[in-house]
Amino acid sequence: MADVPNEAPEHCPGTQSDSAGKASSCAGCPNQSLCSSGATKKPDPGIALVKERLSSVHNKLLVLSGKGGVGKSTITSLISRCLAANNPDRNIGVLDIDICGPSQPRVLGALGERVHKSGSGWSPVYIEDNLSLMSIGFLLDSPSDAVIWRGPKKNEMIRQFLSEVDWGNLDYLILDTPPGTSDEHLSATLYLKDTGITGAIIVTTPPQVALLDVRKEINFCKKVNIPILGVIENMSIFVCPKCKNAAEIFPASTGDAQMMSNELNVEFLGSIPLDPLLARCCDEGRNFLAEFQDSPTISALNKICKRIVQKCEEKKNCLSDSMQNT
Ligand code: ADP
Repeated sequence: MADVPNEAPEHCPGTQSDSAGKASSCAGCPNQSLCSSGATKKPDPGIALVKERLSSVHNKLLVLSGKGGVGKSTITSLISRCLAANNPDRNIGVLDIDICGPSQPRVLGALGERVHKSGSGWSPVYIEDNLSLMSIGFLLDSPSDAVIWRGPKKNEMIRQFLSEVDWGNLDYLILDTPPGTSDEHLSATLYLKDTGITGAIIVTTPPQVALLDVRKEINFCKKVNIPILGVIENMSIFVCPKCKNAAEIFPASTGDAQMMSNELNVEFLGSIPLDPLLARCCDEGRNFLAEFQDSPTISALNKICKRIVQKCEEKKNCLSDSMQNT
């Protein structure tokens, strides 16, 4: 896939517009064929299937990043573990739709697990009693098997993932998406259209703010009408695991996620420090939250998750108020 640009064009007309895939700015966009085929506009029977399957999922969150390597999968696993650990009555599902680089089986410690299909659909793998995971990684013989997949095959896989996993009742379904704005995002947006995306969480690092990738991601969400819950800045400070002193890694001039969030009118949810113990735990699939409860990384994470829950509750209340008023 190295030859395909991984971002929507700057002047993307939007997937629902009549000129989707046909505007001059669409030339060279990796999503052009999907948009021009009309697949993003025609009612797809998969949309109704997804709506039915996810009717018992209360909140659907997308975790997005402009570029790979900023810690999107790490943050997805941390948020999921944190939401599950802080309330045993809450059920969390993680859906890894990073089809070309599924990392959740590794970071959540489920590498080598296989999933089974029964009459009611695919059964996810249980990481904890209230935390389940479905990933393309469970279906591949080798992690490199999917990298050559093209648009339609990826689109169909996302449709199956969204409509055929037997999650049961979930309070939160958290989707780990590939970096950038690719076919997978458009497919997920299309299929989740009727069931509703609660919001997107955008992960960035200070250099990415400077390189504009994250701004493109925010603009993409605005164009396809995905509400943005907020921005998380990852690895901007280093907290020494021994003395707990914090040091800024990147000079302020490289980028400031908080300033950018204010400027683009999205909420800044907080920062997660660069933490070598976290990197090691994730690489080995260990539960960082259980092992390092006193770490500054966990306090930062708890604050972020509290705010995510608050924002989801606010959205739910807002929705039920507007339903009552109609
Ligand atoms: P992405 O999903 O954006 O490609 P990953 O979550 O796979 O990124 O993270 C890339 C690498 O950075 C991994 O080795 C991960 O362990 C490490 N990493 C991510 N966030 C942190 C952090 N806050 N502290 C230390 N290492 C981190």
